[in-house]
Amino acid sequence: MGTATTAEATPAFLVVDDREEGRTFLARLLRYQFPGARVVEAASGSEALARAADSAPDLILLDALMPEMDGFETCRKLKAQPATDRIPVLMVSAVLTDSENRVSGLQSGADSYICKPFENDELLAQVSALLRIRNNELALRAQQRVLEEELVTRRRIELELVEARQTAEHAAQAKSEFLANMSHELRTPMNGVIGLTDVLLDTELDAEQRDLANTIKTSGETLLAVINDILDFSKIESGKLELESRPFRLRDLVIHALNLIQRQASGKELALFWEIESRTPPQVAGDEIRLRQILSNLLSNAIKFTERGEVRIHVAFCDLDHHNGELHFSISDTGIGIPKEKMNRLFRSFSQVDASTTRQYGGTGLGLAISKQLTELMGGRMWVESEPGRGSTFHFTVRVHVPPAGSPAGPATHSAVYGRRILLLDPDDATRSRLAALLTSWEMKPIEGGTTLELIDALLLRQQPAPEAILLDEYLLRAARPEQVAALHRWQLANSGALLLLRPADQRGAMAPDVAPLQVTAQISRPVSASNLFDIFSRVLAPGNAQAEAGTGIPAGPLAHQHPLRILLAEDNPVNQKVAIRMLERMGYQATIASTGADVLTALKQQFYDLVLMDLQMPVLDGLQATRQIRSDFPADRQPYIIALTASALVGDRDKCIAAGMNDYLRKPIREMDLRAALGRCPLVPQK
Ligand code: ADP
Repeated sequence: MGTATTAEATPAFLVVDDREEGRTFLARLLRYQFPGARVVEAASGSEALARAADSAPDLILLDALMPEMDGFETCRKLKAQPATDRIPVLMVSAVLTDSENRVSGLQSGADSYICKPFENDELLAQVSALLRIRNNELALRAQQRVLEEELVTRRRIELELVEARQTAEHAAQAKSEFLANMSHELRTPMNGVIGLTDVLLDTELDAEQRDLANTIKTSGETLLAVINDILDFSKIESGKLELESRPFRLRDLVIHALNLIQRQASGKELALFWEIESRTPPQVAGDEIRLRQILSNLLSNAIKFTERGEVRIHVAFCDLDHHNGELHFSISDTGIGIPKEKMNRLFRSFSQVDASTTRQYGGTGLGLAISKQLTELMGGRMWVESEPGRGSTFHFTVRVHVPPAGSPAGPATHSAVYGRRILLLDPDDATRSRLAALLTSWEMKPIEGGTTLELIDALLLRQQPAPEAILLDEYLLRAARPEQVAALHRWQLANSGALLLLRPADQRGAMAPDVAPLQVTAQISRPVSASNLFDIFSRVLAPGNAQAEAGTGIPAGPLAHQHPLRILLAEDNPVNQKVAIRMLERMGYQATIASTGADVLTALKQQFYDLVLMDLQMPVLDGLQATRQIRSDFPADRQPYIIALTASALVGDRDKCIAAGMNDYLRKPIREMDLRAALGRCPLVPQK
């Protein structure tokens, strides 16, 4: 078949005429006009149909009047068969020249009609015009084919895209299910490792055993932090991380973050300072937990990379409009600093400044990447300024909502300790000043007493108002003379003061010395853990607490004495049962165990429990199902308080628990401090 150019330059013709001289004349004329043209001849209509199909001409010149099959019928047939229907036909007639015949020629499908005698030029002009049309059509058809091919390719790509998206969605789904499962599987044994090491640490151990157990605990906590990092990172990567927005107090946020890293700082000569600019609203709404995560990550880095000097937190605020603002946190240290050329690597995942195999500091290199992404999710950014050898300052901003003045405040988590006056009596200068710094960071008012009890009377008299609690070294107390004990006793009676006894590490299990008539409110074992100390202060300084204990003469005892609860522990995993039971025992509670959701229902039918500690994943009936049944089937006066225990840590878990009717939520591995705080929130129902 001729192409757009060849059809014009060397076209192919089919000349159809029953008379030979007619054919010859036309063939000659065409060859003359179009040198190199191919001219095929046919002497009848049927021959024309065959030749047109096999020689594929660019134009057919067709005689109208022929025996058997005339030009009209031949034309109709040519236009009816797919192989020839697009070949232009010029009908030529010497006899049928009236307009009626011309009309029926065109109606039979001819593209043009010319009557004999004709001027050669006119015929050739018509031939050229028809060839041009033919060429244009061929070009259009070629373009159409290209377009059709393109369309097919596009459709294929579209299909492939849809398939790829489905595959990616399935993969993301599988990944998040995998994460949920892994999260559970990894945390469950960690609950055993960390929880039982805690229990072990509270038994009588010699120094070496204690050291080993402490190492197990620290390693466990490190591993858990890595697991959490990887989980967080994958969640952010797959867009699965949702942020919460709840009101919280900025000061609590900072203090909590400091608490988390206190132990890490205690071995170093580091001063910790914090400052919140005065025009910052005391309360904002945002994701407190994620903010604390960023802060404690930056603080922990600052401490990790600083041997001496100080670590400072500074918080500034900038109004965006009436209801929104931007918080600007900066965390500065006086540590090793970061070389300029390494700074751009900092925020990349799995990246460390010192990537050598001999590097001194551990870590996954995920902390900053996660923190930066979290900040960006909160509408802010993170950057760093640093000078090697002098220190670094990490900055980050986040957008927060500013609740209108007078809106309900979040729980005041450290209000019980705020501004409280504590006398510190410890012979070791270093410990005493570390404790004082810690208390100051919680906005308490530590009074550093001397290293002996010699001046106790004067000290207590001089301090006005008198301290509300005394943190007293056990050796000092053992060595106290009767008049010193009497001075302490007077203070305790007059102020309902809390006496907190600091005990040596290796005597954890041993009895406290008999110091009657003094009332020991709580015992604290060395080394003093910041979180434990904070917990004890919050408890004993809570309004009415110390007074009640000291005033009524009830010996200071475990939580169960002050807050008796009938507890049902719903947990199928034997290790987790052991962890929870031992923790509860240490607080003085005896809990009943149920291993499935169904057992929980049975137990609750037999007896009233104030509290159910409900694992989420249990055989037969899981924690959520069991809770829903309890909430729908039990009468109001037999409804227990339910705290979820879960090893999974995915978004929405807490909401799911609350929606099912639970009251509170604890993540495994359970920390004794959190469990204690959660139990404290459970309301007391008069014992039946
Ligand atoms: P890692 O878990 O390894 O600490 P991060 O993402 O938190 O991971 O930190 C990445 C790297 O950035 C660290 O390994 C360290 O090299 C560097 N870095 C972070 N904070 C500081 C800091 N305050 N001073 C010096 N270097 C730091």
